[in-house]
Amino acid sequence: MAHCDPNVLALAALGEPIADAAERSHLAGCVECSDELESLATTVRVARTGQADLVLPPDTVWQGVQATLASEPAPLPIPLPLNRKRSRWLAAVSVAAGLLVIAGSVAIGRTLAQGPTPTTVAVATLTTLPGAPNNASGSASLQQRGSSRTIEVDTVGLADPQGFYEVWLMSPDDSGLVSLGTMSGGQTRASFPVPDGLPLAIYSNVDISDEPIDGNPAHSAVSLLRGQFTV
Ligand SMILES: [Zn+2]
Repeated sequence: MAHCDPNVLALAALGEPIADAAERSHLAGCVECSDELESLATTVRVARTGQADLVLPPDTVWQGVQATLASEPAPLPIPLPLNRKRSRWLAAVSVAAGLLVIAGSVAIGRTLAQGPTPTTVAVATLTTLPGAPNNASGSASLQQRGSSRTIEVDTVGLADPQGFYEVWLMSPDDSGLVSLGTMSGGQTRASFPVPDGLPLAIYSNVDISDEPIDGNPAHSAVSLLRGQFTV
């Protein structure tokens, strides 16, 4: 999965349990997220005990945060290191907001717990390729929620695979291919997380293939539906 949602880490630093099992197990195994949680928790401890003065980030950081908030949702991903840096500051801002909760503001806590609302930032109409069932069709939408991205796929008429259907992101020139996950025969809707940092400006095509159960993880070259994201 993608790294933990910065808001989830911020709430965890404030002592809230992490409700999502996938996020809990990711956190247990991810050094980067654990480090981030630890640094947020340190901020919370320092603020709660008043052992040290909180240091304000430089003006450029606040300008960056404001610019980021003003430009959300980003239609396309920004490079990974910048993205993580931004997440850290957004998480720091969340912690600062969380400290207001400690001071007694319940409303802000509710907003943080729900996180940002997912926004549809791109859509793709999936059309049949030769060999697909005549009545097949589909669509895909790219949802952005904070820094995490999800692709939701809806299909019609895919009920009888050789083995299973597999959803891919690929570059239009076929030079790059990433598997998102599988769908079974008759399944009409699925949701897949997009790997952190994957540039959708390059991997702009959604492809659904028919995969035999042969243990070979490569694309079978039997594509049934395909479409390109447009913002
Ligand atoms: Zn992580």
